[in-house]
Amino acid sequence: MFDSHCHLHDHRMIGDHEAVLEQARAAGVTGFLLAGVSPDGWRDEDAIAKKNPDVCVSYGVHPQLVAETDTQAMVAALAAELAHPTLTMPVAIGEIGLDAYTKERRAVLATQEGIFRAQLALAREYDLPVILHILKAHEEALKILRRDGLPKAGGVVHSYSGSEALLDAYLPLGLHISLAGSVTFKTAVKAPAVARKVPIDRLLVETDAPDQTPEPHRPGRNEPRHLKTIVEAIAEIRGTTPEALAHDTTVNALRLFGLTTVPAKS
Ligand SMILES: [Zn+2]
Repeated sequence: MFDSHCHLHDHRMIGDHEAVLEQARAAGVTGFLLAGVSPDGWRDEDAIAKKNPDVCVSYGVHPQLVAETDTQAMVAALAAELAHPTLTMPVAIGEIGLDAYTKERRAVLATQEGIFRAQLALAREYDLPVILHILKAHEEALKILRRDGLPKAGGVVHSYSGSEALLDAYLPLGLHISLAGSVTFKTAVKAPAVARKVPIDRLLVETDAPDQTPEPHRPGRNEPRHLKTIVEAIAEIRGTTPEALAHDTTVNALRLFGLTTVPAKS
């Protein structure tokens, strides 16, 4: 299993991330992608990746930060890092996108669009896949993706929160869809419908740890070892085995992020 999106560098996890990694490996997680949020976090990702060969990193400026701080300077830092690398080479740019979940975030949507487009341009320039965070702003994000274009390397909509119908807008762009803990919620309607519909060669799985804890581990901190629960839930929805789903989603992640080791089918 490949956890295509987690935050071991988050302050809630950085203190015991080595133990968290060990437990995840014991549960069958063979690869981890740390999703970037801000320049301080990129440095912590770099330190974790240097110690752990099964960990790779992405760097980006999270749309949620736009309402809180000067993200223009952060995007400049990303451009500088890509031009003259000082940290572990990223396998993707992200998370980037649009977030209108709260009224504070919606109020700065125009600024978010500028920050998103600038990072999308960097991803195209360096041809790195993008990790998209899109929450309550799907139409706006799709408009930008269609107008500006994706990198040739493609990308993934992380923790996909859109409807099943919206897949008809995302999939033709060549994007992958990553599913997180919501597929395990007993009351979930949208996520299972999406889990059924995404073509198997476009599907990724993620924990988004320490957020989005799946059932039956709620409440409590989410950890990459819980990826197993998510894979089992999606496999049941799709009528396949967890082993087959783990294999296919791992191959997809390795291909998307340009990683070489493809594990044997088990
Ligand atoms: Zn995230």
